[in-house]
Amino acid sequence: MSTLRVAIVGAGPKGMSALERLVHHASHSTSRAMYEVDLYEPHRSPGAGPIYDPRHPAYLRMNIAADIVDAWWTPARVPDVASHPSFGTWRSLQLPSIMKEFGDAALDAFPPRAVVGRYLEHAFAKIVESAPESMRARVVPHRVLDIEPMGAGWGIRADGLGMSGKPYDEVLIATGHASEWSDALTQVSRSSPSSVTTVFPVQEQLSRERVAPGAAVAVRGFALTCIDAALALTQGRGGSFHALDHPWRLRYERGPDDILCLLPFTRSGRPMLSKPLPDLLANVDGISEITARGQERIRALAASYDLRVDLLPVLVDTAVASIQAVTSAGDNPVSLDPLRADADEWLRGALDGSLSSVDGDDVVSQIAKSLEIGCGAAAPHALWALGHAWRSLYPAIVDRVGGNGLTAVAWPAFVRLATELERIAFGPPAVNAAKLLALVDAGIVDLTHLHGGRLVGVEEFELRSAAGSTRVDAVVDAVLPPPGIVGLSTAPLATLLAAGAVRPRHGRRGLDVLDDGSCVGANGVATPGLAAIGRPTEDSTIGNDTLSRRMHPLAELWAERVVARARRERSCAARPRADLARQG
Ligand SMILES: Cc1cc2nc3c(=O)[nH]c(=O)nc-3n(C[C@H](O)[C@H](O)[C@H](O)COP(=O)(O)OP(=O)(O)OC[C@H]3O[C@@H](n4cnc5c(N)ncnc54)[C@H](O)[C@@H]3O)c2cc1C
Repeated sequence: MSTLRVAIVGAGPKGMSALERLVHHASHSTSRAMYEVDLYEPHRSPGAGPIYDPRHPAYLRMNIAADIVDAWWTPARVPDVASHPSFGTWRSLQLPSIMKEFGDAALDAFPPRAVVGRYLEHAFAKIVESAPESMRARVVPHRVLDIEPMGAGWGIRADGLGMSGKPYDEVLIATGHASEWSDALTQVSRSSPSSVTTVFPVQEQLSRERVAPGAAVAVRGFALTCIDAALALTQGRGGSFHALDHPWRLRYERGPDDILCLLPFTRSGRPMLSKPLPDLLANVDGISEITARGQERIRALAASYDLRVDLLPVLVDTAVASIQAVTSAGDNPVSLDPLRADADEWLRGALDGSLSSVDGDDVVSQIAKSLEIGCGAAAPHALWALGHAWRSLYPAIVDRVGGNGLTAVAWPAFVRLATELERIAFGPPAVNAAKLLALVDAGIVDLTHLHGGRLVGVEEFELRSAAGSTRVDAVVDAVLPPPGIVGLSTAPLATLLAAGAVRPRHGRRGLDVLDDGSCVGANGVATPGLAAIGRPTEDSTIGNDTLSRRMHPLAELWAERVVARARRERSCAARPRADLARQG
């Protein structure tokens, strides 16, 4: 074989990160190996994909601070210059044009996702352009339906193309979030015009034709996607938010095509809390030392550590020390013992799954309180400090708990704990929390059925809970499919799973993968030439479904392996000719 054929299935941010690493290693290799790289991607903006679609409306914001976004891998970074810019550098170079389009929001720490999408699209083009002469990289704008063994490699069947003529030696699956799953809202029939099974792209899914002006809309889920849906159905239809005489509180003024109300419903009613403003803790003395100490303790946990005995105390200590650091400069020092007891009790409840549910007014006051604390207008409390502890210790938790860092028996408790902490640590940015509260104040977001609401009906729907029942005109599913592959029916992973080429890791939902992304098959051995990255591997790896490239070297290790293979096969192919030449 003289040319290594590589297929990357899905050219969203993760597929792009793999390409970037492949280009890097192929460019720095002394071998004369050749590469043909096909990136299968049906979305019109490779690099950005549907989540960071550059055409998204501006009110769909980033959920992590965008200053960490960088299309080039930090440890091997070429200088941060115009030809290879990080998001920060690109944004400052593009400022006049993006501000013209997106206004001040473009400057925000949590800018519109479309702005980040522009950057990712730009970076993708740069990466393809910078491929060495030995590599031909091209986008194949088609959805992959199946990946099947073909000779010693893999054949790819794509929508509108049929089966690839030649096999690929290496296939990397980077398909991101699944589109179908077994727990999707079953009552929501695709044929009913008033039922919306997915929120994105909002321009299509939540159009006036799908969700009529004046409609009462039931929304399953009360997390970030619910907020995006609420904004699409209000601000996206001409409504507007106005500053009030209060830090970070807004007033909503209805637009002409607004819905009547939006009724979220969930099992527990527990809300996501507002993330703090990014610079809130920047100047607090000692805060980075507290984080470093906590991370060190987590990385040093013994092999047989116990979540309750070993991990929880690190979270509690970090939370309490952070509160102490934040409040020590003020006039009203807080009493730390009750905070410690609150934090400890809350974590134990999260671990056991025994946290109490929350109803209407409490929900509003919890979000409002987190917003005030996050903007520096109120003293921190235990819950807020635990959110901070989880965010700041997360890289160490990813290192220590991901992979085989926890037994299958302990895993379900960790998932319960992580789900609750995610809610208080990785909630909406302050601007979106403020908008949500303004929509509640305006009577549009109605929390009557938030806790325990149940949808009843097939063609016509009613939302029922202990608070009574409400007839609704439209239903929106704002719960995303879970990480991993269990219970998913999306091609091409479902067929690979059925064929035993991939398997979930024991006791987890994510694909069983090695450190370089190689998929482990049903026989317990790595399946040659097949790897995966991102959401399908999530919770076998953890913290991998993010734009941040700081926590996982998976793309790097995959590219290293592929280039090493190309080098090896190139030198094997070259050897007989050299021998022949000597004989001649
Ligand atoms: C609504 C939403 C908001 C988010 N906001 C943030 C945020 O602010 N910050 C953050 O860090 N993370 C955020 N995330 C997490 C997000 O998943 C990651 O940041 C990132 O998008 C993961 O990249 P990916 O390439 O793995 O997946 P994706 O971005 O989903 O990209 C997968 C790509 O694969 C393509 N694809 C899918 N199936 C096929 C197929 N069969 N054949 C060919 N191509 C296929 C898709 O078209 C897509 O382009 C958000 C997620 C969602 C759902």
